[in-house]
Amino acid sequence: MKTLKHLFDKNLAWATSINKENPGFFSSLAKQQAPKYLWIGCSDSRVPATQIVGLSPGEIFVHRNIANVVIHTDLNCLSVIQYAVDVLKVEHIIVCGHYDCGGITAALENHEHGLIDNWLRHIKDVYRFNAEKFNGLTHEKKLDLLCELNVTEQVKNISNTTIVQNAWKNGQELYVHGWIYNIKNGILKDLDTSFSSNK
Ligand SMILES: [Zn+2]
Repeated sequence: MKTLKHLFDKNLAWATSINKENPGFFSSLAKQQAPKYLWIGCSDSRVPATQIVGLSPGEIFVHRNIANVVIHTDLNCLSVIQYAVDVLKVEHIIVCGHYDCGGITAALENHEHGLIDNWLRHIKDVYRFNAEKFNGLTHEKKLDLLCELNVTEQVKNISNTTIVQNAWKNGQELYVHGWIYNIKNGILKDLDTSFSSNK
């Protein structure tokens, strides 16, 4: 018995409408993917990478985890970055955080959440590195600032990977950007933390 039938129905309707608008879309996409962008975002269901920038399947290579964190020992994330940079030759890596991020909120609290506390530790570190910037802020402002600083930190982490450093050394055109998304109005903001070379 097919479960979650409504999702299969929606899938068929979606594929049919794309085929009607753009016949051959799927067959040409099946031959290769050539995305220009790697998106590293939060797993939050309200921040779907391809949709919020109005692009189509095939245009963005995506990695998502809780609170869009890039850790130097995370083989999953590093493998995605390596494949995107070395094989797909993406030109832009975008770290996209978002306000009202549950991961960031949890990292600012002192409650226990189980296994995920180990993951959130990396965000607590971002707070610790920047502790003086939070002095005198309301809780809400602290949350917003930590969402932004977390993006900036991950942009630095990506730029410091051997993958990106070697790409730059080899003259590969590659930009790393830090963006933040407002789930209250659907608008993206560039945090102006872009890097394009290690010089
Ligand atoms: Zn989030």
